[in-house]
Amino acid sequence: MDLVFYNTLTRQKENFKSIDEGKVKMYSCGPTVYNYAHIGNFRAYILMDTLRRVLKYNGYELKHVMNITEEGHLESDADEGEDKMEKAAKREKKDPYEIANYYMNIFLSDMEKLNIDKPEIITRATDNIDQMIDYVKDILKNGYAYETSKGIYFDISKLDKYPVLSNRNLDEQMAGARVEVDKEKRNPYDFALWIKAPENHIMKWQSPWGLSYPGWHLECSTMSRRFLGEQFDIHTGGVDHIPTHHENEIAQSKGATGRIPAKTWMHCEFLLVDGGKMSKSLGNTYTISQLEEKGITPLAFKLFCFTSHYRNKLNFTFEGALGAQKALERLYDSYLKHENGTAEISESEIESYRQKFINAINDDMNMPAAMGVVWEVARKNEKSKEFANLLLEFDKVLGLNIINSAKYLKEFSKDNNEEEIPEEIKNLLEERKTAREEKNWKKSDELRDLIISKGYSIKDTKEGMVLSKI
Ligand code: AMP
Ligand code: ZN
Repeated sequence: MDLVFYNTLTRQKENFKSIDEGKVKMYSCGPTVYNYAHIGNFRAYILMDTLRRVLKYNGYELKHVMNITEEGHLESDADEGEDKMEKAAKREKKDPYEIANYYMNIFLSDMEKLNIDKPEIITRATDNIDQMIDYVKDILKNGYAYETSKGIYFDISKLDKYPVLSNRNLDEQMAGARVEVDKEKRNPYDFALWIKAPENHIMKWQSPWGLSYPGWHLECSTMSRRFLGEQFDIHTGGVDHIPTHHENEIAQSKGATGRIPAKTWMHCEFLLVDGGKMSKSLGNTYTISQLEEKGITPLAFKLFCFTSHYRNKLNFTFEGALGAQKALERLYDSYLKHENGTAEISESEIESYRQKFINAINDDMNMPAAMGVVWEVARKNEKSKEFANLLLEFDKVLGLNIINSAKYLKEFSKDNNEEEIPEEIKNLLEERKTAREEKNWKKSDELRDLIISKGYSIKDTKEGMVLSKI
């Protein structure tokens, strides 16, 4: 089946065809590392992960860039408010670079816990300052920007069309705007490419326009051009990036190179919490560590994300996430049962499941449908190694680390069930462990049967015995 993606730019599903055969060049807007990334942010990075995996499953080689933003991201996407990093530095009474390193490392470690397939290039905005200056020079040279007392601004009236990505009606929006428009700007929606730093601004660089710093939108345009060239295949982000950040990236590219940088633009809808927006004031911007404290593993959160299509809103509740945790345990358990199974399954049956799975993932990454196929295979009554292998193949796309099922189940049972296991069963387990160490297989089997008769199933894995309630 063809690989199909929804393209925000054309507002339709399209057959995907890469610019260079067999190779995909893509860019994802990465985090601004001024605070802990929350589970909403991670929904966007789980989309990025699934996209990478689907492309690889379809045989593509990837060159994928993700940025880490440390400066220039103001509180409002439309050039207002304080720089988020500088604000965090003041709040925590630390150097902004220290803040950036701290939150970046936690972000990268959370990515690992979620088994997110990392982009080939992760680049920090502050390592691209010279290239950013060159980018602004190109836009100025082409007549798309002008200087004011505050910085260098992009002149949107020079474009053939603005906006192109969103349906935003600028006149209507202007009428409802609460902020006063900067009188030096030629058009109200002109935006800052480069910002002249006030005296007390910490992160600033020498530039042809004095001590100053780049705008957030400029960073992404520069890093994508530097590593991927003037045009590449896919650009990803969250839906909140559509009206301003990505719109302005497109404007900048048109100004510098005359082209829209990416052919396909993909956006992840929002994760809601208890049906509403996540916000600091409501105290519901949960982190991956906070989920772990409540017994929800990062991979269970990933599985939770697969319950909804990425273009639909997804409502996070702890009840739902705990359900995903149980489901993940069932999936691992089913895999191990298949792994130990001996049923013979025809190649045509395997192939029909494979095709159904491919049809789902290649249809704009329909993960709920793909999970439907995964569950069909997991729940098959005939237990077979072929099904276990098929689940491992599906896991190339899911990234749920099914290969480590036994290890995870052991960890979960240690975390969750220790108190629940009756003393009697614990003693039988110990006895059986000793019997096995003594290679007394007969006694080991008898003890296993006894444990089963008391309502527990037991599996012998490389990591030891895994106990679960029947
Ligand atoms: P930021 O660090 O604020 O630039 O956000 C990082 C990524 O998370 C961006 O792609 C945002 O669009 C995305 N994002 C932020 N909040 C949410 C949310 N509640 N649900 C899904 N994605 C989000
Ligand atoms: Zn970006």
